[in-house]
Amino acid sequence: MEEKQENKITAHQLLDPDVMYAALEEKLRAGGHAAELERIRAAYDTAKAAHEGQKRKDGSPYLTHCVAVAEICVDFGLDADSVVSALLHDVIEDTSMTYDDVARQFGAVVADIVDGVSKLTRVQYTNIEDEQMENLRKMLMAMAKDIRVILIKIADRLHNMRTMAYQSTDKQRSKSLETMEIYAPLAHRLGMQRAKWELEDLSLQYLDPEGYREITQYLEQKMPQLESFMSSVEERIRARLNEEGINASIFSRIKHVYSIYRKMYAQKLSMDGIFDLCAFRVIVDTIPDCYNVLGLIHDMFKPVPGRFKDYISTPKPNMYQSVHTTVIGGEGIPFEVQIRTWDMHHTAEYGIAAHWKYKMTDGGNSLRSGDEDKFAWVRFLLESQQESDAQDFFHNLKIDMFADEVFVFSPKGDVINLPAGATPIDFAYMIHSDVGNHMVGAKVNGRIVTYDYTLQNGDIVEIRTSKSATGPSRDWLNVAKSGSARTKIKQWFKKERREENIVRGRDMLADELRHNGLTLDDVQDEEILAPILKRLCYGSVDDLYAAIGYGGLTATRAANRLKDEVARSAKTEKKTALDKVSEAAERREQQAARREVKAVHGVLVAGLDNCLVKFSRCCTPVPGDPIVGFITRGQGVSIHRQDCQNYLKRPRGPEEDGRWLSVSWASQITDSYTTSLVLLAKDRSGLVMDIATVLNALNAKVRTLSARDTGGQAVVHITLEVRSLAELRTIMGRLAGVPGVREVNRSGS
Ligand code: MN
Repeated sequence: MEEKQENKITAHQLLDPDVMYAALEEKLRAGGHAAELERIRAAYDTAKAAHEGQKRKDGSPYLTHCVAVAEICVDFGLDADSVVSALLHDVIEDTSMTYDDVARQFGAVVADIVDGVSKLTRVQYTNIEDEQMENLRKMLMAMAKDIRVILIKIADRLHNMRTMAYQSTDKQRSKSLETMEIYAPLAHRLGMQRAKWELEDLSLQYLDPEGYREITQYLEQKMPQLESFMSSVEERIRARLNEEGINASIFSRIKHVYSIYRKMYAQKLSMDGIFDLCAFRVIVDTIPDCYNVLGLIHDMFKPVPGRFKDYISTPKPNMYQSVHTTVIGGEGIPFEVQIRTWDMHHTAEYGIAAHWKYKMTDGGNSLRSGDEDKFAWVRFLLESQQESDAQDFFHNLKIDMFADEVFVFSPKGDVINLPAGATPIDFAYMIHSDVGNHMVGAKVNGRIVTYDYTLQNGDIVEIRTSKSATGPSRDWLNVAKSGSARTKIKQWFKKERREENIVRGRDMLADELRHNGLTLDDVQDEEILAPILKRLCYGSVDDLYAAIGYGGLTATRAANRLKDEVARSAKTEKKTALDKVSEAAERREQQAARREVKAVHGVLVAGLDNCLVKFSRCCTPVPGDPIVGFITRGQGVSIHRQDCQNYLKRPRGPEEDGRWLSVSWASQITDSYTTSLVLLAKDRSGLVMDIATVLNALNAKVRTLSARDTGGQAVVHITLEVRSLAELRTIMGRLAGVPGVREVNRSGS
């Protein structure tokens, strides 16, 4: 096989690129690409001019590589843009042509693809740890953006591996390792079995030449035996299917070298211990035929228990479909049979490329509704079933599944996965908090960048640190994109800058409170502060300020909590005050006074400053009366006596209750207050004169005095102004002594 490989290279060497291109054109014509031939030829001519004079390691013109890669793309079933891009795939990287040159001649789509291939070419894969491989594969997918970039890159790698014989031993090994760990798994993910097998076998040839030779020599030695075995089994199956009238094509093959190699190592077997070297494939027209054939095979040969797998009803993540069974032939040799339809076969061989072709011949670029679903499997296949939301994948035929991630390298070659838009700050903190906290600069691909540089896929990022670094700045919180970096920065501020944080947090909170019409002093009260600190889990008000200062708590959130607490505390006070009316009045007055609430008309209304106050006409309270406030609709708070009938017989309910407020008299009263009295007396002449005389003697300010006769009974209404309840009581006592007066009552009670 090795010799065959070398023959192939020799054959290529002998070929003129023009001759190779002529063969390619034939293939294109046969494949229905005749309409695109002109464009493809233009690409060939451009590549020819651009690569003029360049030679490959084997001495052939560089252009032969471009044509060979294009031909592999045709074999994959890719579209004309892919073939054009494949011919041009190295012109940006290896010649003087630029992106703009390509875009001008062949359009932005082709230029983007060629540019994408070049970017993948530039990625350095050295020193990648095993556990980084998955990230690296994702990075390549993310960088590719267009799936065709990956497909062309696989074609490129395939041709380079086929022609690896002329490279140095070192290069053979490193390229083979890359191929085995990156490109073969990618091909597998994309469902391209044929490319995967070839990449694996070519790599193995350089990675373990001994092991490779052992297997190929064994196979060669056994070949006559294996071939006669395979043709006899093939013949038996064919005869039986003919008999049953099933239209089928039957193929047999020796399993590929690397799969035998892996089996030998995994099961620690010698070559003689590996039985199923042969595999048979039966390809039929319909799914029912698949199961019919399965039944016939099991009838002809003894099935090995536990080896039957139905990937038709349950496809593999990469959309592979077939039924597999292992049976034991007449010679006692086990072999595997795969049964599938032609559609399934095409998907198995070419994977996403097959679907790509289907896509291109099925109406071009226009994504109709439902097409996303058709390609949902692509996402599954790429992500190994990890992601489920297929909605936006394949939008405009782009791979944007990694749009929210960016993959970069550390200088050691580790692949670091960060959120899209991440900056060197995110990178530094991802490496270690210490790296972030001591960061003094960053380099990307060897060039110094600013901290807000947006990292690109494939960037090599280097963080410069210093022991004497002053630590992160607060701006970093805005620059960092990842939550983990921000958390670490906040932690640093929390620990390192307490004093500064307290001052800063205090200022921020004061600012925020001001927007809410409050001051820091308004919330210093233990009653307000203690529950808030407890609820937010801070030991002291300084802790609270510090938290606001380093960003652990927003000033807005703290201010809102405090504002609510102020309002809540006012409400609670009202309820308790109403319960303990008599003894609470004075204490409330003091409290109210301490809180600098301004008295209006000598009345303090809890929780409200400068509100509109009016005295009810029903009970006309005076200073000294226990009072209560009622929030009127649109006319401020009306003040009632607590023995007012309107208060005592008030309707109850949450809404009504909420309208009654705790109010109290201010300690210093300067105004006089209007109040009303009702006297009941025996009607006699001179009664009103006597009452007026008493009031006059007491120097009372009488507003109105009227008397009504209700059948021998006189009702006298007096409206007067007093400064206090004490004064009123004196007046009432004197009036009660007027002859004929039976009752002196305040109105409203
Ligand atoms: Mn190339």
